[in-house]
Parts: sequence; structure tokens; C-alpha cells
Amino acid sequence: MRSRHLFLIGLTTALAVGPAVASEVAQTAREVVHELPLKQLRGPLTTLYSKGYKEVAELQQAHFAAFVGHYDAVLAQGFRLTVAVLTPEDWAALDGSRPYGTPYVADLGTHPVLVLPVELDDAMVPVAMHEAGHALVSQFLWPSPRPRELTVKWIDEWLAVFVARGYALATGEVSPGNGWTGDGPVPPFRTLADYDAHQDAIEADPSSAQFAWYRRAFEAQVDVVYAKHGLAWLGDLRSQLPWDAYPQWTPNALLQVLAAPDPSWILWARKLEGPPTPVVAEVDATAEVEETTDAETP
Ligand SMILES: [Zn+2]
Repeated sequence: MRSRHLFLIGLTTALAVGPAVASEVAQTAREVVHELPLKQLRGPLTTLYSKGYKEVAELQQAHFAAFVGHYDAVLAQGFRLTVAVLTPEDWAALDGSRPYGTPYVADLGTHPVLVLPVELDDAMVPVAMHEAGHALVSQFLWPSPRPRELTVKWIDEWLAVFVARGYALATGEVSPGNGWTGDGPVPPFRTLADYDAHQDAIEADPSSAQFAWYRRAFEAQVDVVYAKHGLAWLGDLRSQLPWDAYPQWTPNALLQVLAAPDPSWILWARKLEGPPTPVVAEVDATAEVEETTDAETP
């Protein structure tokens, strides 16, 4: 959901996009949310909530405090995350451009705010975890809180999947192996290069086959990396990434860095390329369809 992460809260914060005006910016999302007429929970994670939803807020606080605390311990990091549990009215006051109900993170940088509806639909629980994953990835890995500057965009999304799913694997909430083999119907975009070129289109509709292709593919490699290296691998990654070239990485250079200690990355990237797009004879269905060769697949 990268495209949504960068929408900032309100006009004043939107100005923060340009470094030149950063000093004039009045408020961060965290400051804005603190100005709403919300209640606040005591506890391990700053948690704000709309009046009447204390119990929901307590549940969410416990869940995300455990999530953040797990990564604090594994990565020896003091992660920051504010949780805001909001009714439609408070949600709209924070950012009216957002559809109510879909969790998001405001201000990915130094102090992100995870914005949640008061009723978190089952289908939205993984979305909330994924968004929280982005919040942690931004704090742990990116020198700048603006991953959009990355020339290789898929790695930021993959890492958010790793953080969210890795936690679920570590706590036994999910089992490894989502069955993705790279076979089956192939959507228009399927490679890592495609992802970088068409990220917004791919992430526009999480219910699409196109979105699912990347999510399943990313999860498959998350399972491989998690099984081999565990969550602490993120610390190794931080020391191995080619920072001298950041953020102007090339996809190949990044893959080589990842694959140096673990060749599974190369095999995975090739599998993502999938079978060649079938050539469909539109005029005459009985016409001979050109046999695609295996030149593009390993
Ligand atoms: Zn994402």
C-alpha cells in the first residue's frame, strides 16, 4: 500500500514533503492526532482512541505493543509507534481523503501513527500488521523517511511483508508455506522490474489478482529467509545494504548483495518472471499459437 503511505495528514503536514519548507511545517500527524478530542491509554504504547472505544483500544494496544516489543528485543531498537483507534468522525477529521476502515500509517519517519478503525474487519487485520511493518522498516532501515526515493521500490514492500509475516511466523499465528510456486495465471505485471515501474497500479487494488501475485510471491521468499535466518536477519541486512549508493540502487546490484550470502534470492527473482505471457490468437482460435520457448525461464 505504498501509494497511500506518503499521503500526509492535512495541508500543513503535506507541506513537509518539500525539505525547503520543512522548518515552516506546523504539525506532524502525531501532533494532529493529539489535538483531536481523543482519550489516551496509559501503557507501553501511546494509544489514543475515540470516546466510547476504550476496550477496543486496549486490545489494539496490547497487540501492537507485543509486536513492537518483539522487534525491540530482536533488533535492540527502541521502535516508536502511536496507535489511534478512531470513529468515522475522528477519522475524517484526521484525513478525510482516506476511506474509513482501511488501516494506514501516517508519517512513516521518526514517529509514525498507526490509524485504525474502531471495528477492525478480519480482512483488515493483516493490513494493519503490514502497515505497522512499514513503520518499523522505515525506522530501522531507511536513513530518510522517504522510501519513495528508492530506485528499487520492491524491497521496501518486501521488507514490510517480512516484518509483518515474520512476526506472525515467530508467534505461531501463521505457518510457513503459502503454496506460491510461480505457476498459474500470470497477471500483466510479474517481475521485480515491473513492480518498480508500476507500483501504484499494482497496489491500487488489494483484492486484485495482480496484487495477490506479488503478495504471495513476497511471502514465499519471506518464508525462505525467515526459516534460514530468523527475524534478526534484518540487522545483517542493514549492515550489508549498499549504502554508499543509496538510494540510487540498481535492481541487479541489490539482488547480488542479497544473494551473496543466500542464493535463494536469485532463484526467487527468476521464478517471479513466471512463464512467458501466452500469445493468444484473437481472430482464429484454432490458429496455431506460437510456442513460447523456455528462453526466459531458467
Ligand atoms: Zn506496503
